[in-house]
Amino acid sequence: MQLVLLGAPGAGKGTQGEFLEEQFNLVRIATGDLLRLAMAKETELGQQAKGYVSRGELVPDELVTELVQERLMAPDVATGFILDGFPRNVAQARSLDKFLQDNKRPSVTALYLEVDEAALLKRLTGRRVCPKCGASFHIVSRPPQKEGVCDACESGLVQRPDDTEEVIRHRLEVYARETEPVLGYYESKGLLVRIDGNGELKDIFQRILVALGEDKQ
Ligand code: AMP
Repeated sequence: MQLVLLGAPGAGKGTQGEFLEEQFNLVRIATGDLLRLAMAKETELGQQAKGYVSRGELVPDELVTELVQERLMAPDVATGFILDGFPRNVAQARSLDKFLQDNKRPSVTALYLEVDEAALLKRLTGRRVCPKCGASFHIVSRPPQKEGVCDACESGLVQRPDDTEEVIRHRLEVYARETEPVLGYYESKGLLVRIDGNGELKDIFQRILVALGEDKQ
């Protein structure tokens, strides 16, 4: 199974991606997480990406594409993957297609999580993340067992620096301009699956399983 998760910031790509990862034992590759890790470690990539990420802009294609392709070459990804946050524009979608073709791998299925704008803002402002392991929570819909503490590694949870209202607004603009055309790209190839991403997390996950034909127990 080779999945691409599409949707606006706050649509639930990370959360549903984690559910899919667990259900199907697939590797989830989240470009935002990889970039944040590189930034925390202050690698060359992290330093190059920092300004773009903090402003809510897209990191240049060549940096992200190289990062993803390197990860896709690893043996643990040979049987499938979930891409979360990539592709973010049509050029990235084309480069992914070319990479898969060149490596004789099947096309992806693109799952598009459609969410109302008001819900997006609520999700983003209530999001809390673990700076150490990247786990994501929400103060209302997915609270950690102990307030402010990561369930997985017990580090203190923080708000992402790019989840401030001003940067969120800019990220949504960038999404509309750069990423929405990716929906048309996959739709024209018959690879786009639309999922109603509103409502309870488990209901959304169930819709995804039904859409993938994997809902039978
Ligand atoms: P995310 O965690 O997916 O919301 O990504 C956080 C930030 O990382 C984005 O606002 C971008 O600055 C950067 N980023 C993540 N994925 C990509 C990508 N595929 N292309 C360019 N920039 C990206």
